[in-house]
Amino acid sequence: MSGEVPASADVIVVGCGAAGLSAAIEAADLGADVLVLESQPAPAGSTRLSAGYAVFCETDLQPGPANELYEDLLHAHHGDHDEALALKYVEAAPSAYRRLVDLGVTFAGTFQFAHMRRPWAHEIESVDLHGGAELGLRLERAARERGIRILTSVRARRLICDESGRVVGVNVERTGGAPEIGASTGVVLASGGFTRNTRLIGNYGAPGTESILPITGAGSLGDGLVMALARGADTAYMAAGVAPTGPADPRTGKGAMLIYSGAVILNRSGRRFCDESGLYNDISWAGLKQPGTQIFQIYDAAIRQAHRDTMLGRTLKGYDEFQAGSLTELMHLLEADSGLDADAALESIERYNGHVDAGVDPDFGRNHLVGHSGTPRKIAAPPYYGIVTVPGTTHFNGGLKIDPEMRVIDVFGHPIAGLFAAGEVTGGFHGRGYLSGTHVGMALIFGQLAGRNVCGAGSP
Ligand SMILES: Cc1cc2nc3c(=O)[nH]c(=O)nc-3n(C[C@H](O)[C@H](O)[C@H](O)COP(=O)(O)OP(=O)(O)OC[C@H]3O[C@@H](n4cnc5c(N)ncnc54)[C@H](O)[C@@H]3O)c2cc1C
Repeated sequence: MSGEVPASADVIVVGCGAAGLSAAIEAADLGADVLVLESQPAPAGSTRLSAGYAVFCETDLQPGPANELYEDLLHAHHGDHDEALALKYVEAAPSAYRRLVDLGVTFAGTFQFAHMRRPWAHEIESVDLHGGAELGLRLERAARERGIRILTSVRARRLICDESGRVVGVNVERTGGAPEIGASTGVVLASGGFTRNTRLIGNYGAPGTESILPITGAGSLGDGLVMALARGADTAYMAAGVAPTGPADPRTGKGAMLIYSGAVILNRSGRRFCDESGLYNDISWAGLKQPGTQIFQIYDAAIRQAHRDTMLGRTLKGYDEFQAGSLTELMHLLEADSGLDADAALESIERYNGHVDAGVDPDFGRNHLVGHSGTPRKIAAPPYYGIVTVPGTTHFNGGLKIDPEMRVIDVFGHPIAGLFAAGEVTGGFHGRGYLSGTHVGMALIFGQLAGRNVCGAGSP
């Protein structure tokens, strides 16, 4: 454990990801004595593992207006989300972006994923690290410069309330006891999602969702959610939120996604079953219905090279790859290892290459690399590669019900005094869907707001 557990602070922030650090920095700049608790030996939540793409509008890199981003959000959320939270996101995004730049979190460009009419996803400027690692590091630096105390290996377990029901502290887990830490101003829950809590997934998820492979931070156990539930908190979009996102390699537990660089996806029968340029969530949902839930990603040397230079390529690494000098050899390797129908797979790739030559994919409508941008690539430059993946997840969308001031709302519709939340522990903003880059975006934007609101300051 880094440092002794103190008796109290003004503000306790549970979790040291993008949401927690953003909240802590804002509260400290408003004069609060802030303590950040992190359950893991080092801050290593999903933020640090992520590609760090964050959606903003009205910035120097993407001047597109808030109303257009709102429309894209509504479309991606299948027309159903917490409207007040979605409006708050687009309203607060421009100033949150400027604040990040002031804090030393700078952005190098933008990227257009599926469901985006403009490239809203801002890519963190980084040299050696991938986006999420760079983001975490820069936020942690800004927090430490402000003297914010970050205690690692200290897991918050319970919220302490006074007689009126106001949250006034937390119990933490520690060998030999569960000390109390008082929070005179309030507590911000920023403990991330529950992708690694099989009990919660079993309670809320649809049949089959228990087989989704998490590639998230080790602390994604739903602690903040459970702590608030024990104090009467309500939830939002829990069932809709338990969903797969991108494909992952079950042998290594690593995410692998070469589709947006041009890979073709086949099922075990050797057939394509989706538009590879579509949203990775939709592809993974379709993958859950395939034999053995297997998703074979097939690509060539040129696609592999192009992928390595992308942020996704720099972020998702360490998966097992099969390699062969010819497509026939590759498909037979995959057949022997994982049961792929090699003959059908060869036919599918030949047909796909014909569609790329013709410029039209009549089977699944893959006419772009990703969303509405880029041109599909043929699988034609040896050596050839394949990865055997299954639907995995980088996040869930549902969580604690909050209002636009980031106050946690109880089951009777009232704010729980002294309790705020931000980031993946919350639900409602995403409703029934997801626009890429809005989980890191939400953690940053709503984290800042939670840090201001816990101190009674409101929006900037
Ligand atoms: C591989 C990968 C790629 C991704 N890429 C993107 C992307 O490019 N764009 C995007 O928008 N989203 C992306 N996501 C999702 C996104 O990273 C997360 O949803 C987001 O970062 C969550 O931020 P957070 O601060 O809420 O949680 P986290 O970053 O997970 O931080 C929560 C922290 O709280 C700690 N904690 C948990 N319980 C306790 C407790 N009881 N006491 C104390 N500490 C606790 C955890 O250990 C963790 O450090 C990706 C996720 C992954 C895994």
